[in-house]
Amino acid sequence: MPLPPFPPSPSVEAATLPRSGSSEPASLSAEDRSLDLSPSTPDTKLFRSAPAPPLLLVDSPAPPLPVATRLTAVEDSASRCPACGDNRHRILVRGSDRLYGTTTKQFFLVECSQCQLIRLDPWPSPEELAAYYPERYWFDASQDTSGRLAERYRRFVLGDHVRFVLAAFTASGLPGPILDVGCGGGLFLRMLHERGLPAIGLDLSAAAAGVTWRRQGVPAVCASLAQAPFAPATFSLITMFHVLEHLYDPASYVDEARKLLRPSGRLIVQVPNIDCWQFFLAGENWNGLDIPRHLIHFKSKDVEALLEDCGFEILRRKYFSWRDNPAGLATTLAPGLDPMSRRIRARAESPRLRLIKDLLYFALVLASIPFTAMEAAVRQGSTIMVEARRKS
Ligand SMILES: [Zn+2]
Repeated sequence: MPLPPFPPSPSVEAATLPRSGSSEPASLSAEDRSLDLSPSTPDTKLFRSAPAPPLLLVDSPAPPLPVATRLTAVEDSASRCPACGDNRHRILVRGSDRLYGTTTKQFFLVECSQCQLIRLDPWPSPEELAAYYPERYWFDASQDTSGRLAERYRRFVLGDHVRFVLAAFTASGLPGPILDVGCGGGLFLRMLHERGLPAIGLDLSAAAAGVTWRRQGVPAVCASLAQAPFAPATFSLITMFHVLEHLYDPASYVDEARKLLRPSGRLIVQVPNIDCWQFFLAGENWNGLDIPRHLIHFKSKDVEALLEDCGFEILRRKYFSWRDNPAGLATTLAPGLDPMSRRIRARAESPRLRLIKDLLYFALVLASIPFTAMEAAVRQGSTIMVEARRKS
């Protein structure tokens, strides 16, 4: 199915868009990248922040991590809830980067005494946070036999995401296209294309957008959502899988998504669910915390309040994901076997040892299915996927 043209929005006329047939992702010029450092004021509604301030231009390239463009709450985040502004909180657990070992610094998880939102404390500065993101913090299968097997497995488990999106897309009755925010290596987008759905990727990592474009053959743009070169009301459906928990200001992303969606367009959001059995039992060892990269730890009611405050109506909720829940428990139990952790930590492994570890991890994932299915059945699965409709 042919893709519609990318209509450049007035604010990003200087964006460098690829020529037709180009193998490179689109990139924004330095003039288009901006950080807002102006002070904010607390708001009484959950996650609602001050109106978008004037842009501050910077020369350096955008950092390859999903940071929202409004970073105002960083300096005083230790004392204020980003959702309600209250400064009272209680400490739940303490931990560090258990999975990738990018730092030994200790962080707390604190719960707001007013609205019960759970957040990382203290919030790292954007520069500090950038150092906590490994270079390839997303899936990119190698081209050998093991890589092909891994991709086959990913295709099987991603079928779940594809079915959820397909049902929302069909129910919307809108013609497309679809935007996947935080597209990573782009396998999900390729699966949408294979089903005839017009879809485009967006990622702050130029390397991720490049892999999506070159290897998966799906158009991808390297930008933040606020600076993406799309006209308002372009998309029928926008997906954000595991994006919002990485942001200082998730409401700004949901606001942008609302602007880019057509009336009645669908937003699909997936985040880890801290109201799950796994966190209750494993505490700071629960894989879904991903300390210190997850800045906010959502429960169902937090996600729903965020979306409703930003002008969406909740249509569907799902607490089990074939891709995320069983593998998440396997990594909680044996982080040393997690394939991404082993790749990022560059563990020296012979082909035989690698195969043994891969098989052990896979066996643990299979063994994790009954437990993760049970917690999801009582709405305490370790992830939440929500479909919401843009109110017109
Ligand atoms: Zn609060």
